Amino acid sequence: MMSEEKSLNFIEEIVEEDLKNGKYKTILTRFPPEPNGYLHIGHAKSICLNFGLGLKYGGKTNLRFDDTNPVTEDTEYVDSIKEDVQWLGFNWANEFYASDYFDQLYTLAVKLITAGLAYVDDSTAEEIATLKGTPTEPGMDSVYRNRSVAENLDLFEKMKNGAFADGAKVLRAKVDMAAPNMHMRDPIIYRIKKAHHHRTGDKWCIYPMYDFAHGQSDSIENITHSICTLEFIPHHQLYDWFIEKLNIFPSKQYEFARLNMTYTVMSKRKLLQLVNDKHVQSWDDPRMPTISGLRRRGFTAESIRNFCDKIGVAKRDNMIDFSLLEFCVREDLNKTAQRVMAVLDPVKLIITNYPDGQTEDFNSESGLEAGETRIVPFSKELWIEREDFMEVPAKKWFRLAPGAAVRLKSAYIVKCEGFEKDANGNVTAVHATYIPESKSGSDTSGISVKGTIHWVSVQHAVKAEVRLYDRLFKVEEPDNQTGDFKEYLNPDSLQVLNTVYVEPSLKTADLATPYQFIRKGYFCLDRDSSADKLVFNRTVTLKDAWAKEIKKN
Ligand code: ATP
Ligand code: MG
Repeated sequence: MMSEEKSLNFIEEIVEEDLKNGKYKTILTRFPPEPNGYLHIGHAKSICLNFGLGLKYGGKTNLRFDDTNPVTEDTEYVDSIKEDVQWLGFNWANEFYASDYFDQLYTLAVKLITAGLAYVDDSTAEEIATLKGTPTEPGMDSVYRNRSVAENLDLFEKMKNGAFADGAKVLRAKVDMAAPNMHMRDPIIYRIKKAHHHRTGDKWCIYPMYDFAHGQSDSIENITHSICTLEFIPHHQLYDWFIEKLNIFPSKQYEFARLNMTYTVMSKRKLLQLVNDKHVQSWDDPRMPTISGLRRRGFTAESIRNFCDKIGVAKRDNMIDFSLLEFCVREDLNKTAQRVMAVLDPVKLIITNYPDGQTEDFNSESGLEAGETRIVPFSKELWIEREDFMEVPAKKWFRLAPGAAVRLKSAYIVKCEGFEKDANGNVTAVHATYIPESKSGSDTSGISVKGTIHWVSVQHAVKAEVRLYDRLFKVEEPDNQTGDFKEYLNPDSLQVLNTVYVEPSLKTADLATPYQFIRKGYFCLDRDSSADKLVFNRTVTLKDAWAKEIKKN
């Protein structure tokens, strides 16, 4: 939740001003994704901003699919977008589709033609580009620019009725071929595309361009504040021009800086390439910056909303460190994750003085509600982490080593008495004796040890697969490198551990519960899990190993 003292971002300032001086009684914003891919963390910023304004100022927010490009759009994407927005915790007032406005948009185009403000141009795409001029030189009129209103109306109707081939003609707004802003040089507003649309089927073979669909859709819905990213600054003038010339509801466009993040890419087009070329398994691969990928990886909606709140809303582009997102999820999971024990790189610990065949059930705290515990069975043979034993202990080593003692979490203090090695010199088992009086909670041993390690009883352990994730790219800014961005993928972004032993309480692990594997990080169950195979994803480590790594170098 936003604290009272937090200063307003520049869009909130505008909204407050508009409400104060009575420009609007209530505000209406919209989130307008094109359904040509899954949403990513950049979209989350836009979602939090648009829906956040609606919530904060007692207004409403529409979800509008900007589906004017039949070729790249799909209902799979529509469904995923709805799921992601809801999962982030937002409810839209209305679910709209720009394609629902095709009739109205067509009528508006006819209105422009009738007013002498649009014409049908038969020029090729190359001719149009050439005549457009350059930022320093004015453009030149197309020979079709001065067609009569009657001829334009007739041709436009024929375009709609399918009389012409793709690309044979376009409808252009008649603005100003010498305008300093290139977007004002008679922009194309309709094109012929004989393609099947995911909602309107084959009804249309002409489709409005972004500039003629977006602003007009805003007006049709009476959107008060139409918020988009900085790339659309050059379109602003045209947005206003259409509204003025068509005399429709005066929606206003405001631009803010898009979210860019280190070690990833943030364009649906590039993310689609990663999926299609099988660099990742799917749109919801836990390494993807997509909302579905982050969700599968164990990021919570709360942590993503907090992240968006922290980065704020600026007017200048910047680059946000991926570790800020990790910080936010750690902060949230620390409060919500069940504490459990899992051994990722197992080696056996044999407690030589513990009776054969005996087991004990210990209560171990979940780490959430005070006093909330779960049962963890203990026996003579345990799995411990290989890295918790050192044959020749380093200085300040407080874990197991010959002669050294540690506490086994929620159980006993054990003292290492020796170890076994195989022919290759790998430790295969560690031997220890336990101190019966040192039982956690009723320790009368008088012995104090500095280290506590986690463990899982061998006979009770459940074998699991664990997937560890690292940065998707090796470089901070894969978008700003020479050559193809895919050359900079991190080949070690996924590490699969096949022999992990987890405590038996995890047999009933579910997809909705976050877990902290004590000392190892935050994990969640993956949807690849089945009744006889548990698969866990590491959401994030407990500490920022990456930052430490950077400091070392
Ligand atoms: P992409 O380039 O990833 O396809 P897009 O802008 O084409 O993104 P849209 O579906 O058109 O994707 O975006 C829907 C809304 O989300 C737009 O208002 C857009 O400005 C916003 N948006 C997209 N990417 C970002 C980002 N990185 N940061 C903030 N907002 C974004
Ligand atoms: Mg787009």
